[in-house]
Amino acid sequence: MKLSIGQASDAGPRKGANQDSILAATFEDQPQVILLIVADGMGGAKAGEIASQEAVKGIYNYLLETIPLDVETVPTHLHDAIAAANAAVFAKSKSSPEFEGMGSTVVSMLIMDDTYWIASVGDSRAYLIRDEQCHQLTTDHTWVNARVQEGLLTPEQAAQHSLSHVLDRALGVEETVKIDMALDDILEEGDALVLCSDGLHSVLEERVIVQIASSYNGPEAAQILLEQALEAPAEDNTSVIVVRAGDLV
Ligand code: CA
Repeated sequence: MKLSIGQASDAGPRKGANQDSILAATFEDQPQVILLIVADGMGGAKAGEIASQEAVKGIYNYLLETIPLDVETVPTHLHDAIAAANAAVFAKSKSSPEFEGMGSTVVSMLIMDDTYWIASVGDSRAYLIRDEQCHQLTTDHTWVNARVQEGLLTPEQAAQHSLSHVLDRALGVEETVKIDMALDDILEEGDALVLCSDGLHSVLEERVIVQIASSYNGPEAAQILLEQALEAPAEDNTSVIVVRAGDLV
């Protein structure tokens, strides 16, 4: 199936410092494999930027050495790539006092032919938009979302909570990390996949994401989603990748 892929990232109101890092890449030795990553770094001074860059590099480099991939081994390799990135960010955080406590979210997707796999740590999200319905494919690893799961907060209270951005899991903070792996799925004609940092999903309603992702090809949808988030207005670095499967009708 024909895929169109677009990506956009902006520092938003925090001019100059974009702690998000994104990647949409293919591999020369296996061109039918597409790797997508959104990483949102945290840490003082330049640490957040460096953490998310290390996360992206760690995943890409691991997979580059692992290629060629096959359908059976993709989930293991994607998981291990994130684990390798965790180790890389953790090692970086120990390399200098100014990097102490750095970390990053990551949502990463591998697409091979029409099948896709997702791994995530933190609160960057992946959505599938199919038949104008929005399906969130990842779980936010935030303190407030854990309270929602326990029934102590409603989703509305969580969204408004002063601790809504506090992560309870992030890449590179500890020596090992628990990684969420979504079940693989097959793309259908007309599907859109959206990966984004919280700078986007905390200011745009799902219906807006659905409407834009359903109406444009990947590059246009990514650009328009970014512009809408910035106008919302965004309160944070904002990043998005959009994959559009098949032709627009
Ligand atoms: Ca963020």
